[in-house]
Amino acid sequence: MKYVSTRGRECIEASLAIMRGISPDGGLYTPEEIPSVSKEDIEKIAGMCYPERAAEIISRFLADYTREELLEYAEAAYSEPKFPENTVPLVKTGSNTYIMELFHGPTCAFKDMALQILPHLLTSAMKKNGEKNKVCILVATSGDTGKAALEGFADVKDTSIFVFYPRDGVSDIQKRQMITQRGSNVGVCSVTGNFDDAQTGVKKIFADSDFNNKLAANDIRLSSANSINWGRLVPQVVYYISAYADLVKTGEISNGEKINVCVPTGNFGNILAAFIAREMGLPVNKLICASNRNNVLTDFIKDGIYDRNREFYLTSSPSMDILISSNVERLLWLITGMNPEITAGYMKDLSATGKYELSESEKKKMNSVFESGWASEKDTLDTIKKYYDKYGYLADTHTAVALSVNDKYSAENADDIKTIVAATASPYKFADSVLLALDGKERENSLGLVRELSDMTSTEIPAPLKDLEAREIRFGGCTDTSGMKKEVAESLGIDLYR
Ligand SMILES: *Cc1c(COP(=O)(O)O)cnc(C)c1O
Repeated sequence: MKYVSTRGRECIEASLAIMRGISPDGGLYTPEEIPSVSKEDIEKIAGMCYPERAAEIISRFLADYTREELLEYAEAAYSEPKFPENTVPLVKTGSNTYIMELFHGPTCAFKDMALQILPHLLTSAMKKNGEKNKVCILVATSGDTGKAALEGFADVKDTSIFVFYPRDGVSDIQKRQMITQRGSNVGVCSVTGNFDDAQTGVKKIFADSDFNNKLAANDIRLSSANSINWGRLVPQVVYYISAYADLVKTGEISNGEKINVCVPTGNFGNILAAFIAREMGLPVNKLICASNRNNVLTDFIKDGIYDRNREFYLTSSPSMDILISSNVERLLWLITGMNPEITAGYMKDLSATGKYELSESEKKKMNSVFESGWASEKDTLDTIKKYYDKYGYLADTHTAVALSVNDKYSAENADDIKTIVAATASPYKFADSVLLALDGKERENSLGLVRELSDMTSTEIPAPLKDLEAREIRFGGCTDTSGMKKEVAESLGIDLYR
């Protein structure tokens, strides 16, 4: 099976799509054909452990990787000590809701699901394509991605990684997680300014041909670990199929029974993976797209008009604070019948005017699958409290957005279909908001809140967050945007002035 850009017609192998990340025409690589998953496959998958499930499903998408290779990568990514034996637990609350916990990896956020296996897919792709250079991953992060990428690439052969974060734009826990990162091939530095400053700085480094030539002379090539890379998307298809198989295995549903899936959405990667699983034939009724106050996707799914011209809000679910959700482009391409001209046209409108509108038939297609809703800040905190009081379930702010939207949806639609709700972060990562939801008291954001949340709820602090305060700070540096290039060069041991 080959891959094509959403904006062009060139056909390439999966490994090259993963190595390139983004197509030279600006489009996103997507498989030209969606493989299928049958009832019998579900039976078979139900008898496998998670790494085997991952190899089984990913191999249907990545034709130029062998099954053995994929199993080796999946075992390295999803076994102990990276993940517990039950890689993705399902927790039942109420009679119809199953919370799919995607946050039991090394950084307690769902991005581990993709970023633990991506380095293996990427280094293997480079070998398959005869790339001799080593890869240096460059990341600008507003929180979760940076740490998950650091953990994924730490000590992976022939790679290095450098992460920039905005000095005043991440929580104390997120910052401490990053600056104490282990590994001999990692670097972290804060940038004065906000996330956009860090992001713009990184983009400048990618576009700096002198600098890239200097790196090439040292056998190094820059690359990114963006969520637009197909190598980050395909591992996410796995857990939807895996969760369905688990529900069949435990007798919660019958094989073939339709379920709903509700996803707290930012860049649209996670819910797109659910859409792909549905296209493969997984029995999914509706995909419910949940947003916070930055509800551009709610409106898009309701009336087919994507309009980013609106105010941007900082919320308690920061990983969903986003106005341009990149992976929507793949949805457009799929619902336009894989039409690169129409897709490229919408993307052109989006960058020129911040806006585009689907045709009637495209709108109809989207609405036959997607539902949408959003949760205010109050809804989010109320939902954390409700789930804790009613079910003893402690949700993080992102998960709470989805639970709130799903509760509203099922009340309004008198729909008693069983629903999987994606839980994307440990509540301990957002302890300040979770504590506020539980007792109504505002607190200074600090590392001590983790202990406080544990004491209040008698729940265990996840191991990766337990001894944060005791860990050695390795990367205390800060630079302004003009010094970013120098930081990367120093970390790679390259003299910029020679
Ligand atoms: C990244 C992230 C999301 C959004 O996922 P997308 O794939 O970008 O839609 C939601 N919750 C958390 C905790 C995240 O880190």
